[in-house]
Order: sequence, then C-alpha cells, then structure tokens
Amino acid sequence: MRDKAIILTGGASGIGREAAIRLGVEGAMVGIFDLDEAGARATVEQIGSDRSAAYHVDISDREQVTTALAAFESRFGPTRGLANVAGWDSARLFMDSDPAVWDKVIRINLYGSLVMHHVVVRGMAERGFGRVVNVSSDAGRVGSSGESVYAACKGGIIAFTKTLARELARNGVILNVLCPGPTETPLFTDFTKDMPGGDRLAEGLAKAIPLRRLGQPDDYAGMIAFLLSDDAAFMTGQTISISGGLTMS
Ligand code: NAD
Repeated sequence: MRDKAIILTGGASGIGREAAIRLGVEGAMVGIFDLDEAGARATVEQIGSDRSAAYHVDISDREQVTTALAAFESRFGPTRGLANVAGWDSARLFMDSDPAVWDKVIRINLYGSLVMHHVVVRGMAERGFGRVVNVSSDAGRVGSSGESVYAACKGGIIAFTKTLARELARNGVILNVLCPGPTETPLFTDFTKDMPGGDRLAEGLAKAIPLRRLGQPDDYAGMIAFLLSDDAAFMTGQTISISGGLTMS
C-alpha cells in the first residue's frame, strides 16, 4: 500500500491509533478523521507529518466530512482505502436506558459510518477502486449485556457492509468487517466504570477468553492493514472476529 491514500476514523485513540500507525509503517498516506484533535495530532506525530494529517471531524456531520475529504485528497491524492474505526458506547441495561443516549449511540456507531460511506466511497466507486474495512464488534454478532443499542448499530454495520459489498463489487470497491472482542482501550475502561460490578467484568472476561487475556489495541492493526491491501482483492462482504477465541462464529 506504499503511497496509497487511506482515511481512517477514530485514529486519535485505542484500536484506531494503532491501526493508523501500522498503515504508516506499511507506507500509506494516512488521513485521520477524529473529534479529538489533540489525540489525532499525537498519532500524526508518531507516523510522521509528511505521510499523515489530522482532520477535526465529527463523522456524523456530512459537511465536516466533505470538507476534510477535499483537504485530504488535495494533499495526498484520490482515496484508495477507508477504515471506519470511530465508535462510542455507554453501558446501561436496555430497560434502564435513556432514548437521548440511544440517539448519540446511533449517530456515532451507525449514522456516522453511513455518512463516511456516502461521501468517501462515492469517489472510490466512480474511480473503480476502493478497499473498505468497517470495525464492528462481536456485540453485533452474538449480543452483549448492557450494550443493546450499540450492538444493534454494530449488527447494522455488518448487514450494511454486506449490502454495499454486493452493490459496489462491479465498481471495484470491496468492503469487509472486523469484529474485535473486549479490548483495553478508553472506550472499554469507561464502559466497565458505568456497569454495576464493572471492576470484576474485565477479570471475568479475561478468564472466559480461551487465549486468557483481553485484547490490546495493537491486536487488530495487522488485519486492518491486510483488508486494505491488495492481498484482500478477492474478498468482500466478510466478517472476521478477533477476540482471543471468545466468539467462534
Ligand atoms: P477509543 O475510545 O479508544 O477510540 C474511539 C475513537 O473514536 C476516539 O478517538 C474518539 O474521539 C473517536 N470518535 C468518537 N466519536 C466520534 C465522532 N463522532 N467523529 C469522529 N471521531 C469520533 O475506542 P476503541 O476501543 O479503540 O474503539 C475503536 C472501535 O472498536 C470502535 O468502533 C469500537 O466500537 C470498536 N470496538 C471496541 C471494543 C473494545 O472493547 N474496546 C470492542 C469491540 C469493538
């Protein structure tokens, strides 16, 4: 993927940051779209400001995405790859949940990703080449207590990706999904803080995982790079779980 322009959302932290750094190591030109400006700039510093740039973007704001895409492409050329990694959740049992929080969860985890595809993947389809990886979650495949609306969004992303993979195959755009399991990032730490008994949750999960540990942010970077590379050329509409064997679906 040397010198290929790749946009990655959520690159200011956690899984997205490690993936962005790996893409930089592989030689890509990386555009980080994130709400967290300082975090995104810190990732750019690690990759190198000659090969990457940070854009302050709320992925659910179409105008911001459009403006950032134009700035990225005028500097690095047409976008060849897109990794949708940004996400957010707040733990609550569904019957205790607040519809105002549903709106935020849906805006970030589902609607924002739709906007990214509608704006960024459009150009890929017109040019006849594109690689997309959408980061969902095993919550979207097997469910997860305290994450009902988030799981609905993540399941939605899987179905959406499969549909777009069918619609855009003839345009040379391939799209696949990566589902991480529980991973030690700020998102997971905040989640366990919100859950009753959350302090014991991480410990319990680590015991339940056949490989006996929680995920680390850099456990996914290799798969994200692979799915954006030419080695994945004959693969589209697939969903891959990386969760230490927690889910074997
Ligand atoms: P994280 O909190 O470390 O990083 C999430 C990033 O998304 C942050 O940089 C944040 O600023 C950005 N972001 C949030 N809302 C945004 C918006 N509206 N516009 C632009 N950027 C926005 O979280 P993480 O754990 O690294 O999560 C990365 C992805 O992995 C998410 O899609 C998450 O749902 C998924 N995931 C995480 C876990 C886990 O246990 N950590 C498990 C399964 C799936």
